[in-house]
Amino acid sequence: MITCLFTLSFSSAPSKSYLFFIFLGIILITVFFWQRIKGKKRLNEIKIEKMEEEKRNLILEYEKKKSLSETFNKRLQRYSTLKNVIEVLSSTLSLKELSELIITQTSKVIGKGDTCLLFLIDSKSGGFSLLRQQRGFEFTKMEFGKRGDIFDQWVLRQKQPLIITDIQKDFRFSLDNFNKEGQRSLIIAPVISKERIIGLLRINDKTAYAFSPNDLRLLVIISDFASVTIENALLYQRTEELAIRDGLTSLYVQTYFKKQLAEECEEAKIHKTGLSVLMCDLDYFKEYNDQYGHTAGDILLKRMAEILRQKIGKDGLVARYGGEEFAIILPGKNREQAGVVAEAIRGAIDKEIFLLRRKKTKISVSVGVVSFPQSALDAETLIAGADNALYRAKEQGRNRVCFL
Ligand code: GH3
Ligand code: MG
Ligand code: MG
Repeated sequence: MITCLFTLSFSSAPSKSYLFFIFLGIILITVFFWQRIKGKKRLNEIKIEKMEEEKRNLILEYEKKKSLSETFNKRLQRYSTLKNVIEVLSSTLSLKELSELIITQTSKVIGKGDTCLLFLIDSKSGGFSLLRQQRGFEFTKMEFGKRGDIFDQWVLRQKQPLIITDIQKDFRFSLDNFNKEGQRSLIIAPVISKERIIGLLRINDKTAYAFSPNDLRLLVIISDFASVTIENALLYQRTEELAIRDGLTSLYVQTYFKKQLAEECEEAKIHKTGLSVLMCDLDYFKEYNDQYGHTAGDILLKRMAEILRQKIGKDGLVARYGGEEFAIILPGKNREQAGVVAEAIRGAIDKEIFLLRRKKTKISVSVGVVSFPQSALDAETLIAGADNALYRAKEQGRNRVCFL
């Protein structure tokens, strides 16, 4: 084409060659711009590629940050759940209420398993009490001497948490004498306080592989919280007991007796049942003290408390009302029934021989009886009535039972 253009330009008139150069110029300019456009296009392409690369990097970074933030959020959620568990468990000092809260919170946080169980070990008797809740059912409470099944015993021995993914495939345990109750997997965490196991927290499930090691880790954290709160509740219980018990005889003190009597009066009014109060006072106890010494008097008071505890058992409440004076509430007992109890107490003390360094000593007791609703309608008048009846028994010669 160029040769052709050349021929055209030299073979024509000067105006034609002028036109040719214009045409050539246009072509050259076009080529030049086309090249520039091409160059720019390439540059743009490179830029786009770079931007794409950056975009990819940003997406990657975003994904990374997103997953980090998700992990962080999950952790945050877990911490806030655990914080909530601590708050809930710290909300009560009653051991009964606390045990129920531990079970409900554990079930909620772990979110798996059919049955959640809390065993508590009595530090004095070594007895085992068990509180158990099956999903959707009420709590059931049991007291036993024996320390759980083979899995509980393993945790008690090893002082370590335990996960069983499938009971039938775990060869560490012999299932010969084991009542599986349909459980296939379980997790157990010991509740440890001051390096001593005070209980066990356990979840069972009917299916195999229901729990992961993470669930066990969570259970251990909850059992750690539980141990602190159980210790607090036990301490509170002990302090409360100390405050309402008499130091010498371990019987209830007068203030507690009065409070309980007021409550029993209300109950008797609501259920229209009988209620009686006995006031027992040792006869000539001052003389006993004078003759045998104050320490001997103390020993006798302790023995007297034992006899009363034995005679009343779960039928009533025995308190040390004052020095050598004992008060007894007999819920549900009418005048006649209370009279029988009073006479039994008087007779038992009259027969009792109090051994004092191989010396046989004796004492007697006078008893005043008052009953609701015949003679009094509230705690104060019941006490006053029992005192009056006691005074009469003293007046009539002691070692006897008198009624108001
Ligand atoms: P009564 O038959 O009229 O009840 O005569 P009593 O001597 O039992 O009664 P009194 O009220 O004169 O004396 C009560 C005595 O109880 C005086 C006191 O030393 C004694 N006592 C009170 N508390 C205790 C105690 O904790 N230990 C001892 N050993 N004695 C006590
Ligand atoms: Mg007396
Ligand atoms: Mg007295």
